[in-house]
Amino acid sequence: MGRVIGIDLGTTNSCVAMVDQGKPIVIPNTGGYKTTPSMFAISPDGKRLVGHLSKRQAITNPSNTLYAAKRLIGRRFDSPEVQKAMSLCPFQIVRGENDDARLEIAGKVFTCPEVMGVIVREMKRVAEEYLGEPVTQAVITVPAYFNDSQRQSTKDAGKIAGLEVLRIINEPTAAALAYGVGEEREEKIAVYDLGGGTFDISILELGGGVVEVLATAGDTFLGGEDFDRRLVAHVLKEFQEADGIDLSNDLMALQRLKDACEKAKCDLSSLSVTEINLPFIANDDSGARHLNMEVTRETLEELVGDIVHRTMDAVQQCVTDAGLTPADIDQIVLVGGQTRMPLVQQCVTNFFKKPPHKGVNADEVVAMGAAIQGDILASHDDSILLLDVTPLSLGIGTFDGQFAPLIPRNSTVPTRKSHMFTTTRDEQTAVKIRVLQGESEQSDENHLLGEFVLTEIPRSTAGEPEIEVSFEIDSDGIVNVFARDVATEREQSITVNAAGTLSEEEVAQIIKENEEYDLPE
Ligand code: AMP
Repeated sequence: MGRVIGIDLGTTNSCVAMVDQGKPIVIPNTGGYKTTPSMFAISPDGKRLVGHLSKRQAITNPSNTLYAAKRLIGRRFDSPEVQKAMSLCPFQIVRGENDDARLEIAGKVFTCPEVMGVIVREMKRVAEEYLGEPVTQAVITVPAYFNDSQRQSTKDAGKIAGLEVLRIINEPTAAALAYGVGEEREEKIAVYDLGGGTFDISILELGGGVVEVLATAGDTFLGGEDFDRRLVAHVLKEFQEADGIDLSNDLMALQRLKDACEKAKCDLSSLSVTEINLPFIANDDSGARHLNMEVTRETLEELVGDIVHRTMDAVQQCVTDAGLTPADIDQIVLVGGQTRMPLVQQCVTNFFKKPPHKGVNADEVVAMGAAIQGDILASHDDSILLLDVTPLSLGIGTFDGQFAPLIPRNSTVPTRKSHMFTTTRDEQTAVKIRVLQGESEQSDENHLLGEFVLTEIPRSTAGEPEIEVSFEIDSDGIVNVFARDVATEREQSITVNAAGTLSEEEVAQIIKENEEYDLPE
């Protein structure tokens, strides 16, 4: 068997690693960088560009450059998150056939798994170039808080890229693996992960070769980009007040400003003051206008303080869910670029009353953990046991609009729970079951995974048939549903209408279409 690569498929950047002679190493791309921007673009002359090539031309081609597709993957077009993204992104987001969110650039519509698939394929290529041999298997990470549709869609992205996805694992679990693998010590660790687009907090227990996730919480729509956006809004306002020019409708100016604000934000992690300089940002009757502005760390902290404090509410919830207090946590591991911000480190330190661990690289630790998991799976090593949990309660919708949970959140996966269904009318031959994930008592407020229709139920009086439906969450955190007619022992057929994800036929079709395109290196 060839090597299994570990891919940290990030909102902003992606990273690929593998285990070499027992040690995880991050594989640099051809430019020598250890991370690759998760961006995909079509240039004006029709070329498909990915990674750094895509990022480099984003300023001059904003409406045809896709970024942060991870924020939209597995989501319905009508969801508040997609609607919010539509008002913020310079590219078109359109409704797909499955009510999913799709992305339109250069007149062509792409599904989110397809866009993420392009990024995965690039990471595969980086590894193949380094190794000089084909790579066919991978472990891909997702935020712990991802629901079934988001996990399924990520797995589809792997397939579209031509990889067999051996396992989907949670990013914090991967970080814990990289942090503590092979060590004898018993510890409770908190992994605080604030990346470009998502936030996760997990509490894990390590020891005796077992990595057990005790609890996890987070927000799949909160990350460094929100920090950038606050700074962009601030600069736009200041510029308008000082110069009387509104830049908010000028796509190219906005893209330049967005890049400059992200850079200023990063600079302010090590400096107390920085400058944003954008010459020729606008033109008016008096000629070219330039934007020169000083930004202090204090201003940035005022602009984003509430976001950082919001993450701490999730930290509190997670510690409580784990049945612990902050003092029980031995180590805090920070993951994701945004954790370099001093305010973030300070809030985490204040909460746990101890500083975070310094020994791991926040950008690389997740991919390294994924590579370790890949190596464990490939070598059938049973000395390390990974016990992950499901982040959201799984249940069914009842007739009165209520949610009946079957598998509570933070249950260890894989797990399986059965529930008995019957008919409500005489001669009824089909029953529809709505499967949802979430924590609200109201069905409507939870995420609808799909509608499962039990068919071919033998005709009889209402309430007589007994159909046992088993809900399984597998090691990838993906939901499978099985049904059995108790009287006849017959497996019941089930039709799944999972909105937001692709059918197998659609995935196959995309793979075929993409074979035509070889990306320039
Ligand atoms: P990731 O998704 O882990 O690659 O994190 C990317 C996010 O981290 C982006 O929003 C970056 O702007 C942010 N980031 C990277 N470096 C720094 C830094 N030195 N200070 C603050 N934020 C940073």
